[in-house]
Amino acid sequence: MTSDALMNNYGKRPLSLVKGEGAWVWDDNGKRYLDALAGIAVCGLGHAHPAVTEAIHRQSENLVHCSNLYNIPAQERLAEQLKTVSGMTNMFFSNSGAEANEAAIKLARLHGHSKNIDVPTIIVMENSFHGRTLATLTATGNRKVHAGFKPLVRGFARAPFDDLEAVHAIAANNDSIAAILVEPIQGEGGIRIPDDDYLIQLRNICDANDWLLMLDEIQTANGRTGSFFHYQQHNIRPDVVTIAKGLGNGMPIGTCLASGPASQLMQPGSHGSTFGGNPVACAAAEATIATIDKDKLCQRADELGTLLLEQFRDTLTGCDMVKEIRGRGLMIGIELTEPCSELVGQAADAGLLINVTANNVIRLLPPLIFSDDQARQLISTLVPLIKAFSPEG
Ligand SMILES: *Cc1c(COP(=O)(O)O)cnc(C)c1O
Repeated sequence: MTSDALMNNYGKRPLSLVKGEGAWVWDDNGKRYLDALAGIAVCGLGHAHPAVTEAIHRQSENLVHCSNLYNIPAQERLAEQLKTVSGMTNMFFSNSGAEANEAAIKLARLHGHSKNIDVPTIIVMENSFHGRTLATLTATGNRKVHAGFKPLVRGFARAPFDDLEAVHAIAANNDSIAAILVEPIQGEGGIRIPDDDYLIQLRNICDANDWLLMLDEIQTANGRTGSFFHYQQHNIRPDVVTIAKGLGNGMPIGTCLASGPASQLMQPGSHGSTFGGNPVACAAAEATIATIDKDKLCQRADELGTLLLEQFRDTLTGCDMVKEIRGRGLMIGIELTEPCSELVGQAADAGLLINVTANNVIRLLPPLIFSDDQARQLISTLVPLIKAFSPEG
């Protein structure tokens, strides 16, 4: 079905998906696809996971919504669970990633004003992605995302990604900086992985200048890169971290987590959301985190990701079209030398869902429950398509 009653912002959508189970989805013609995208890093436990379905069912039988005017037990349980997993101390719940980042941006402004900075400014990176609201699209380092939406929001300064000198230079010349907002690995930007000591050094710069280190882990967290949060692989703790995507395994929920002074900046009335921290979304997230822990899915993402990277590197050596293969856990990018968005349709024809981002990077974000067999099928379907795509192939 194709309805013209929708705005045209997503362009033409090629498939109508109507059912899912684990790493499989079916379209309205009954054709089956191996899902190596998981709704863009959302359904980490796969589709229709029984623990999440059961949590949604149970909560929706009792109370779907009651407002943040009241205590919401499922929200408080989720906050405690996230506290244990993250080492952060205080949470704000939103419905999406962009809204979690909006909360972070507001924390940076409160932090700046507490130091009498008139125009608190956040350092953001080139090639980044932080969302589609006005503040988060301004933070995003991509002209296509800005196009048509000026005037943008004040209070952002831009540095190249993975460039510490640039951040030092801004520190030396701008006394309005309140925070740095950065993805530990750029997702939409093409699975770009910074130098190993980048996050640690950013932590040091923030400490030296009394800036907040704010990590956008909306794509990298929830087990995807081999630990629940990516920062845990670098032995640092941010002041603020945002998550969403995989948190509710498909239920819309995001969180802005804070620790230290940043966790005390919000006061009654300073922020809110009608639906944020809704009982059903929180129950789904609770079940998702418990399952990631119980089934050791962070470890699984780490091991399977390492194996997939090796196998892609082995099978694609000598393919001139392939510029670089990189990834952490089950966040994998295969950069080609040419734009390659046609591969998405070719893969779907072959029964495989993938994505291409930043024009020429094949992005793979399979569910964390991907089996060894499914990994083999991913390789055996995708590699020939990439080889055929190469003019030399
Ligand atoms: C997807 C994403 C967002 C935006 O999340 P929405 O839920 O679409 O608002 C922000 N930052 C990063 C890193 C993302 O991957």
